[in-house]
Amino acid sequence: MSISIEGITKHFGSFQALRDISLEIPDGQLVGLLGPSGSGKTTLLRIIAGLETADEGRILFHGEDVTRLHVRERRVGFVFQHYALFRHMTVAQNVAFGLDVLPARERPPAAEIRQRVQMLLEMVQLDHLAQRYPAQLSGGQKQRIALARALSMKPQILLLDEPFGALDAKVRKDLRRWLRALHEEFHFTSVFVTHDQEEALELSDQVAVMSAGSIEQVDSPQKLYAQPSSRFVFDFLGQVNVFAGQVEEQLLRQGEAWVHLPEPSPAPALQLYMRSHEVRLQTAPAAYAHLPLRIESISLVGAEVRLELSPVGWDSEEPWEIGITHAQFNSWQPSRGDHCYAVPQVAHAIAQGTDTPETLHWQAGEMDDPAAMI
Ligand code: ADP
Ligand code: MG
Repeated sequence: MSISIEGITKHFGSFQALRDISLEIPDGQLVGLLGPSGSGKTTLLRIIAGLETADEGRILFHGEDVTRLHVRERRVGFVFQHYALFRHMTVAQNVAFGLDVLPARERPPAAEIRQRVQMLLEMVQLDHLAQRYPAQLSGGQKQRIALARALSMKPQILLLDEPFGALDAKVRKDLRRWLRALHEEFHFTSVFVTHDQEEALELSDQVAVMSAGSIEQVDSPQKLYAQPSSRFVFDFLGQVNVFAGQVEEQLLRQGEAWVHLPEPSPAPALQLYMRSHEVRLQTAPAAYAHLPLRIESISLVGAEVRLELSPVGWDSEEPWEIGITHAQFNSWQPSRGDHCYAVPQVAHAIAQGTDTPETLHWQAGEMDDPAAMI
């Protein structure tokens, strides 16, 4: 079932929590709402659910206006970060709860409820715990039960608000994978709130990045990461290296550092934003880039070796961070305090006073001195 969000505005007193939000969620998609705390994610989710009313705008499910429908009539399932299970009820009773409290004329026969509960518990792979009480479950198991409970009413729309927020990293990762599989198998349309960019990028078909009550960008995870539409999205989506300088013809300069731009820029001042994988490190500068760095720390984390670097003869607000492969690390064998040079392959230029990045590419032919390559 598709969800259309049209021009939603919401105030709490004089505070504007949502500013003219519009978003199309196609049938069967898993969409992540990603943004810092206070950006309005929960408020938007509650408006979709019917738990909160908007000041202006409409919500449509499959083309039908549900703006004025009560939460019960919208038939959505939801899971919250702390979806307190009923402590005095067993797991099976918790999952059956929504069905048990239906008015008699809508309530399925008891045998059918039992069967549906059994099926849902099998689906979340916890049927062996049916007679346990919530206190006897781990955090991850509780959230899976909360999800089974949300699905008991056979919703076509599933709303999740930071469902894994309270769990530890390993359990979160398992549950993410499992939620994705479940989503693919049962084809509901899901909206998933998180402030964790990795979680949003891994799980979602599309991610809507929110900031201060507005949607900054909606795109696939790949596009969002490779082509952020603003400074905010850039910063929020992960570590980024920035070189800010003054433009003299085609040269961007700051202190002792400079980069020859692939094309002339009309702006007097530019910031180049570069993700770790868009920059190469060399032991000598390239012909088109002179960005000296000093190695401040080396951490061998997971698949890559991460270097924290500070500028030499120029300034940057944040330290730079660049990942290299273990093979590169082993052949180069750098130590703390060593100097090296950053060579941009791709950069996203943001002119002073604007907020829209323009992507710059340097041609392979402009790279030189193979001996300097790491
Ligand atoms: P998020 O989920 O992104 O952290 P919320 O949607 O919970 O953000 O909140 C957005 C803003 O609206 C916050 O500044 C919050 O304090 C405010 N807010 C949310 N709910 C209420 C409420 N019931 N009354 C007053 N302010 C609220
Ligand atoms: Mg929230």
